[in-house]
Amino acid sequence: MTHVFHRSARATPPVAVRGEGAYIIDKAGKYYLDGSGGAAVSCLGHSDADVIDAISRQAGDLAFAHTGFFTSEPAERLADRLIEHAPEGLDKVYFVSGGSEAVEAALKMARQYFVETGAPERHRFIARRQSYHGNTLGALGTGGNAWRRAPFQPLMVETSHIAPCYAYRGQEDGEDLVDYGRRMADELEAELQRVGPETVIGFIAEPVVGATMGAVPAVPGYFKRIREICDRYGILLILDEVMCGMGRTGTLFACEQDGVVPDIVTIAKGLGAGYQPIGATLCTAEIHDAFAAGSGFFQHGHTYIGHPIATAAADVVVTKLTDGGLAHRSADMGERLGAALSEAFGQHPSVGDIRGRGMFRGLEIVADRDTKDPFDPSEGIHRRIKAAAFEAGLICYPMGGTIDGSRGDHVLLAPPFILTEDQLGELVDKLDAALGAVL
Ligand code: PMP
Repeated sequence: MTHVFHRSARATPPVAVRGEGAYIIDKAGKYYLDGSGGAAVSCLGHSDADVIDAISRQAGDLAFAHTGFFTSEPAERLADRLIEHAPEGLDKVYFVSGGSEAVEAALKMARQYFVETGAPERHRFIARRQSYHGNTLGALGTGGNAWRRAPFQPLMVETSHIAPCYAYRGQEDGEDLVDYGRRMADELEAELQRVGPETVIGFIAEPVVGATMGAVPAVPGYFKRIREICDRYGILLILDEVMCGMGRTGTLFACEQDGVVPDIVTIAKGLGAGYQPIGATLCTAEIHDAFAAGSGFFQHGHTYIGHPIATAAADVVVTKLTDGGLAHRSADMGERLGAALSEAFGQHPSVGDIRGRGMFRGLEIVADRDTKDPFDPSEGIHRRIKAAAFEAGLICYPMGGTIDGSRGDHVLLAPPFILTEDQLGELVDKLDAALGAVL
């Protein structure tokens, strides 16, 4: 009997008791290779001594000081470090406790920015189908995951959705990738014209789509054109890097690889690497200055923003990702992971696409490689792959996405950046066994 309200209201999962590098160990002593870092969280693995040390030292010095009264040394240090390594133009960091909170803060920051600058008629967002921005009502309102939204409709944040940049399914015969990217980006302009550009606050998107699609990067040029369209109509570009940021795709910020600087970017997951719950919303000086010159106050806030222990832990994480070279290692090991996946599953009859960047890789599972038809949702393919992998001692992140209104399946991999060559081999072998058991 458990009193915890678990994710599954029907089953209690095994009890995790210990972490050791890339492994989680349960109460029965079973080792699980963390092939997805939970949900792209544990970039440093589970027993990083430096982070653990920083947490205990900060807990000894000062565990909490409310930001209504104080700032703290670790929060100031972490903000400096993030801005030092962020794309040029991002200047301020608003700390929160997780990904949904980071998106929520981004949406409200964007809205209030236009209130501060005398454009209160801007009240709606444009986002993309098959996106996920979090589970709080605002973040859910902008996200385009039909399954997660369904029980809560109508959602309060007015948002319309355009197509994702998803070449595997969207590119037409004879169309080159650049033309495809341009066509997809131009959907934003068409949508702006449809709803009235003067009513729109911003466009929100994940540079590399995680949970709902399985590590799908945009094609070259897509985000550059999106940026141009945002500028042309004076709307804000909000990038959600909660999952794909913090070195996950091989650079500290995923958007570096798309050559664009957003007005607002959200990060979480890898920022605390699982050692502390922390997220952040970064914005330009222009946005911050509008608050300073206007009401002087962002009408937002949670009790634990800028938490000293969380920011102290994240400061060590970010130092390791940057000066410690772990974001580069994500790029290098990610290349090897991509190659190993192509080698193992490139000809698999049920693997339609293998994609991703850095240590962020996805496999799309299809019933037929030629037609790209997904499996019938009633077969529960992603759930069965997850269960078979778990049984084999591998944590991976299979999901059913939404493909043209029907559900398809993919497997997301996001291992710790410290993964060794041997562990990479173990991951691929165990995934092979899991796919073999299901498909
Ligand atoms: N945005 C993205 C892109 C995410 O992947 C997630 C979590 N999967 C969130 C927001 C929400 O983050 P959290 O679960 O920490 O609230």
